[in-house]
Amino acid sequence: MTASTRQPVPGQAPAGQSVDDQPVQNQVPPLTGFNLFLSDRTLVQAVEREGAGWAREHISELGRFLGTEEAQRWGFEANENKPVLHTHDRFGNRRDEVVFHPAWHNLMRTSVENRLHCLPWEPAKRSGAHVARAALMMLTAQNEAGHTCPISMTYSAVAALRAEPDLAAEWEPRILSSIYDPQFAPAQQKSGVLLGMGMTEKQGGSDVRANTTRAEKIGSSREYLITGHKWFCSAPMCDAFLILAQSPKGLSCFLLPRFTPSGERNHFYLQRLKDKLGNRSNASSEVEFAQAWAHLVGEEGRGIQTIIEMVNHTRLDCSIAAAGLMRQALAQAVHHASHRRAFGKLLIEQPLMRNVLADLAIESEAATLLMVRLAHSFDARESSERERAFCRIATAIAKYWLCKRSPVHVGEALECLGGNGYVEESIMPRLYREAPLYSIWEGSGNVMCLDVLRALTKDPAPLEALLAELQSTAGADERLDVYVTAIQQKLSSKASNGSPHDYAARELTEKLALALQASLLIRHSSPAIADAFIASRLAGQHGSAFGTLPEAANVSSIVTAVAEPLGS
Ligand SMILES: Cc1cc2nc3c(=O)[nH]c(=O)nc-3n(C[C@H](O)[C@H](O)[C@H](O)COP(=O)(O)OP(=O)(O)OC[C@H]3O[C@@H](n4cnc5c(N)ncnc54)[C@H](O)[C@@H]3O)c2cc1C
Repeated sequence: MTASTRQPVPGQAPAGQSVDDQPVQNQVPPLTGFNLFLSDRTLVQAVEREGAGWAREHISELGRFLGTEEAQRWGFEANENKPVLHTHDRFGNRRDEVVFHPAWHNLMRTSVENRLHCLPWEPAKRSGAHVARAALMMLTAQNEAGHTCPISMTYSAVAALRAEPDLAAEWEPRILSSIYDPQFAPAQQKSGVLLGMGMTEKQGGSDVRANTTRAEKIGSSREYLITGHKWFCSAPMCDAFLILAQSPKGLSCFLLPRFTPSGERNHFYLQRLKDKLGNRSNASSEVEFAQAWAHLVGEEGRGIQTIIEMVNHTRLDCSIAAAGLMRQALAQAVHHASHRRAFGKLLIEQPLMRNVLADLAIESEAATLLMVRLAHSFDARESSERERAFCRIATAIAKYWLCKRSPVHVGEALECLGGNGYVEESIMPRLYREAPLYSIWEGSGNVMCLDVLRALTKDPAPLEALLAELQSTAGADERLDVYVTAIQQKLSSKASNGSPHDYAARELTEKLALALQASLLIRHSSPAIADAFIASRLAGQHGSAFGTLPEAANVSSIVTAVAEPLGS
């Protein structure tokens, strides 16, 4: 029998016909066409509770759009088509531009039009604006996190730029614009501008006191010429950067624009782009400054104190993004398990898978609550000393803990999708690559824990504010009471032997984070989630991996609470 006369065998493609004709069975429909906000009850309730209910429609509309196939496609395209650096034009002139895929611009336009880069700084600011923005940012990071880097830096830069009122007055109107204007042109010619940050140098990122970049004063004004480099400078097509450089009085903060006030290209040279593990849609560059024009921001010699306001807001954003990645990973895992069958049952019906999913859901819920509570303190600290003190320590605690939990959480969620989770067409590898970045950025893990120690020892107010917060749930669960008492005893015994030691800073920060999360869950979550969290995270009834919740955990209600609103 020749190939052309051979009869098809059941289960095999006929000769000469594509094997793609095989029936597709037991594959999961894509998680698309859903509202990222409305399907997340925890976030919906938190937004309402923390004073941002006025933004509900806005957040919901963005949540709806981010769940569409179009928005999801932009996320994939922006990461599949990495930005390209053009150091020179074809005639050999310096160009120093990065060209992005149209999908990047679509993502940027969406975020700018939704005012993620400026909402809390608007003149008609409403209370709860940081919370409203946190919700918008959390949803956006779930779809595509890379482009949120310049969005976050712009939002954060305003907090530091205000240390220089004249400069802020000049730049803010264009920062607060909802028009995304990507043209590479002097800021004065643009409808909207974005800001970046340049602190890290080759010899050190955590220890910026080691910066070697120099600033020379021009005459008697607050203008300087900057010479040196930055080893990491993300989103280099931003219109200006807050940078640190050594001036005669010490490390100082400067605004360094891509074009000088007279409209000339500044002496800002892009050396190359980093080839990164993830965050591929975004460009992270190495730059050199050769007498680049810059304007001093804040007091000369107090650059760290000036830029720390920017850093604190980006730390909030790292916590927001980490919570977002966990939520997206959880949603994908629950959705997959709701459709995929193995051994005669849907995965979501398999007891061990339920244990894993419930454990991931608890972690995600605790992350969202901590992140929103932190964002609320950014709102409330303007009128409350206690909130200011709480914000001081909670920023470091949340940044450390949420960014530490998200890579392991996302990794476990990825495995719920089996082999499909390891494939780029699912969003999981992208989430997985993105997750560790937030722990490195803006103060790596150890640096954040050392910052917790600093907050505890410099001033009694942050610890008092944190303990007052924990006190609000005293008596609600004996296990939490015991846990908090043990932390307090340890802190006071350390205090009597001098300040707490660096060596144990991670252990202490983790415990403070878990106590805070447990307290938030008692106040705002279901009894099933609060109980399972406390049993597993505080009372030792848990193994080292996810999926080791104790028998008594009400996994059924925990998993259903995630699956139902997703429509999975
Ligand atoms: C993709 C990407 C984009 C970035 N974009 C920017 C940007 O736009 N602008 C910018 O300024 N920076 C940027 N960075 C740099 C980033 O902020 C730094 O990498 C980070 O702050 C850590 O600094 P470092 O790399 O010099 O590490 P180091 O400072 O050398 O630290 C290495 C490790 O040592 C630990 N460590 C440091 N000090 C101590 C200590 N005293 N005790 C114990 N452990 C310690 C740290 O926690 C870290 O784990 C970017 C980084 C990445 C990966």
